Formats: sequence, structure tokens, C-alpha cells
Amino acid sequence: MTDHFTLTLAHIRARIDAAAQFASRDPATVGLLAVSKTFPTEDIRSFYAAGQRAFGENYVQEFTDKVAALADLADLEWHFIGPLQRNKTRSVAASAHWVHAIDRLIIAERLSQQRPNQLPRLNVCIQVNVSGEASKSGVAPEETLELARHVAALPNLNLRGLMCIPEPTRDEAALAAQFEQLHQLQAQLNEQGYALDTLSMGMSSDLEVAVAHGATLVRIGTALFGARPNKMTA
Ligand SMILES: *Cc1c(COP(=O)(O)O)cnc(C)c1O
Repeated sequence: MTDHFTLTLAHIRARIDAAAQFASRDPATVGLLAVSKTFPTEDIRSFYAAGQRAFGENYVQEFTDKVAALADLADLEWHFIGPLQRNKTRSVAASAHWVHAIDRLIIAERLSQQRPNQLPRLNVCIQVNVSGEASKSGVAPEETLELARHVAALPNLNLRGLMCIPEPTRDEAALAAQFEQLHQLQAQLNEQGYALDTLSMGMSSDLEVAVAHGATLVRIGTALFGARPNKMTA
């Protein structure tokens, strides 16, 4: 009998594949990041058993606890996707494979300094504030090139791409414009000699729009794990 986690994972994978095909893209170019914040490690084990390997967390303490609790799953890939304060970078530098929300040079510098030498370079994305909302984190689009130049020069980081969280809206045209802006920024950077292969964008409610505009890694929480206990902390 196929269990709930296997079916849920297959359902999301089918949504991604259909969105890719609709956009005339190879489905294999779109990865799935399972956003497990607020959910117990047993759920992560169940999705892992169903074949999922990349998991995303937002909060440093929860991330650190889960990394320790799941240390036996050697090929699990940890993505830290939340905002990072400068005094909280060390455990992320030590345990994450990816950090998605670089929005200031100081955070990138600390991650690079604190990355243990025996580990491969930490994969990072720059978070861009594509919605222009003052409350949102992320670097302004016009400051992205400058930040990328500095981040790319850090020895223990590997600048892989860009990430965004668009404004929460059901207006598909507005979402599309924001995803497309990130896509265009990636193209601009690559024209200048970068080799960014990652666009981290798209969540449970808008993954189809994101894939249509070039997402290579969609970050899915609710549609995999269910509703979070308190949406305000999302
Ligand atoms: C929580 C979160 C997600 C997942 O959002 P869902 O709508 O639950 O799929 C994705 N990205 C970031 C940065 C998040 O904080």
C-alpha cells in the first residue's frame, strides 16, 4: 500500500512536471525543496523514506535541532531559507548545504568565514525584494549586481542564484511580473560572466507561475506538510 507521504510527494511532483511541460521546459530542470519548518522530524523521515532529499528550514534553533536529530540520514540536503541575523550564522555555516536568503554582505562574509574547511563551499542565493514592499527582506533589484560581485568573491561560498518571495496575492499577472523580474536579473548576471543556475521561487500556491518564469527550485511547505499551526510565524 502506498503511504500518505509517497502519494503527497507524487502529487506535488506531478504539479511541477505539468507546469514545466506547459512551459515547454524539461521537468528535470525543476527541483523540489520540501519546507519542513514547524513540522516534526518524523514527517521529514517519512518524506525522506518516500524519496525526498532536500529540506528547507527558516529558524536557526529549529534548524540546529533538526540537523542533530536527523544526523543519521547522511544524504539529506539542508537548505536554510529564512532571514539570518549576523550573530546566528555559525550553526548554519556548519550544517547547511544551501542558504537562500542572503540580502547583506555581512551575512555572506560571516558564513564564508565560519564555513568549516573540510566541507565543500556553501551554496548561496541572493534574496531580491521583487515586490518592493518595505516590509520584505531582500536586496533591491538595482543593488543585486553589486551584492553579487562581492558575494561571488568570498572563498567558501558558491553563488548559485537568486531567490524571491513575491507579495502574497492571487493576481497572477502581478506574481508573474515579479518572478520574471528575478529571471531577468539572473540573465543579466549571466551575461556579465556569472554562471547562476538557480532560481529559488514558487511556493504551494504559486509554483505553476514560478515554473512558467524559470524557477529551478520551488519551495513547498503547506502542500506537502499541511497547514502550519500559526500562519503568522510563517
Ligand atoms: C514557509 C516558506 C515557504 C513555503 O511556503 P508554503 O506556502 O507553505 O508552500 C517557502 N519559502 C519560504 C522562504 C518560506 O518561509
